[in-house]
Amino acid sequence: MIYTDHAATTPLDTRVFEAMKPYFQEQYFNPSALYSQAQKIRKEIEKARSQVATLLDADPNEIIFTSGGTEADNLAIKGMAYALKVKGKHLITSQIEHHAVLSSFKFLESQGFEVTYLPVDHTFRVSVDDFRRAIRPDTILASVMMANNETGTIQPIQELASIARSKEVYFHTDAVQAITSCKISVRELGVDALSISGHKIYGPKGSGALYLKKDTPIVSWITGGDQERGYRGGTESVPNLIGLGEASKILQSERADRESHGKVLRKKFMEQLKHHHLDFQVHEHPTYQLSHIVNIGFREVESESLLMHLMLRGVLASLGAACNSSSVEPSYVLEAGNVDRAYIKGSVRFSFGREISEEDVVWIANEVKEILELIGKVDF
Ligand SMILES: *Cc1c(COP(=O)(O)O)cnc(C)c1O
Repeated sequence: MIYTDHAATTPLDTRVFEAMKPYFQEQYFNPSALYSQAQKIRKEIEKARSQVATLLDADPNEIIFTSGGTEADNLAIKGMAYALKVKGKHLITSQIEHHAVLSSFKFLESQGFEVTYLPVDHTFRVSVDDFRRAIRPDTILASVMMANNETGTIQPIQELASIARSKEVYFHTDAVQAITSCKISVRELGVDALSISGHKIYGPKGSGALYLKKDTPIVSWITGGDQERGYRGGTESVPNLIGLGEASKILQSERADRESHGKVLRKKFMEQLKHHHLDFQVHEHPTYQLSHIVNIGFREVESESLLMHLMLRGVLASLGAACNSSSVEPSYVLEAGNVDRAYIKGSVRFSFGREISEEDVVWIANEVKEILELIGKVDF
């Protein structure tokens, strides 16, 4: 089997698993308890928090642990919108956000907020000018993802955040995909809030974090005890937090290698597809692009059929966002990028990881060629 769906999730790193193990059984104490056994766990949680903070160039006090990217997005968007609503009710996001972000904005619309959804160009990038023009006197918050999970396009976050700041608009970015290979410094980016998830970086599912800049107004969404300084109540999922810390530490030291490995695979894969004279187009940005996500539209092919045949040959890929796989609707991300209908139907996302070799992608390209010959073209 060759797994090429790393944008959906990644396998747990063995080192991360080893670091988590003691916290399932021996170290079961509630970190909020006062006895020393519990305090020792508290210390380990704070170490994990520092590891995440170091990865993002943040202060540990600015990291809030969550149950994943979805919760971090919800907390940031709903929490900041509610905290700021006395100043205005206008919000800005893009048309190609992950469902975790889009559905948070949809919810806010149902609560009387007004949302502008910025379009993207054919490289799936939002325009900085569009963003500037969208800001109104009553705009309170904007959220634009750092890199898209279907196409891998990287957005001009530093510029957007700087415009937002000059207009006193708070700025959040979903960096769940970007963090897998981009070097991220929240200070350099100038954002107020940024979400990450553990299971996209070889950490545990159900782990994530929100960077929230010091003194940023936010209303907490999950209330309970004063865990996470009151921003997120509930007894900590200790193994997951430890796992996220360890995954962050490993990512920090291996990020550059993962990025360059992704570039090699991408280049090789393209070369092979061209070598086989396949009729396809790549949905990407020529420069601002995550290397490990390769979204390809094959002309007049049914992508479901291609994916099924790939699966039978042991290659696991996807249509785009994992949560969309059950629907046969064309991807809203590709539609927003105005992808030609002849290619949109036959679009497949391969997302490579560190376990994939050059031989693997050569083999996959060859399988694709054979499958396309087999299934032929569909009638439109
Ligand atoms: C996976 C993903 C999420 C959701 O993260 P979970 O930890 O699975 O909740 C959010 N945004 C993007 C861009 C993602 O790729």
